[in-house]
Amino acid sequence: MSATTTTPELRLTPCPSCAVQSGPGYCLTCRGDGYLEVSGDLGPTRASPQGRPFWYMPGGGWLTLKRRGKPTVYRVREFAHQFEGRAFGVRKVFDGATYHVLCDRSGVSCDCAGGTYTAGCCHADAVRVLLAAGLFDLPTNPTE
Ligand SMILES: [Zn+2]
Ligand SMILES: [Zn+2]
Repeated sequence: MSATTTTPELRLTPCPSCAVQSGPGYCLTCRGDGYLEVSGDLGPTRASPQGRPFWYMPGGGWLTLKRRGKPTVYRVREFAHQFEGRAFGVRKVFDGATYHVLCDRSGVSCDCAGGTYTAGCCHADAVRVLLAAGLFDLPTNPTE
């Protein structure tokens, strides 16, 4: 990286190059995701004082979270449930561990150890930020 990085706007943007290529196929701009990758920072915590940068690809639900310099890749999927609000499964690609994040009127909760014990974790924080930015509200995707 050379120049000062500007934070891209955190919103759902269909990939402009895909439209030009017309039709499905591998697009180098979005790596076939269909949407532009977004990135941001979840902010510092006591365990990660330098902040927690993240990258998210809205089409596939790929989330990369960096804590203490180490990236972890997750796949985020919304799932249907019987409660009020919206629920998301956050699956760690490396070992398949899945955390469940529930967003309702009382806030965002996660069933991982961090979310249970300290009332806050990166999964809940990431889902809260992405949900607020409308990144889970994809128009019906004909390719999937
Ligand atoms: Zn594209
Ligand atoms: Zn969690």
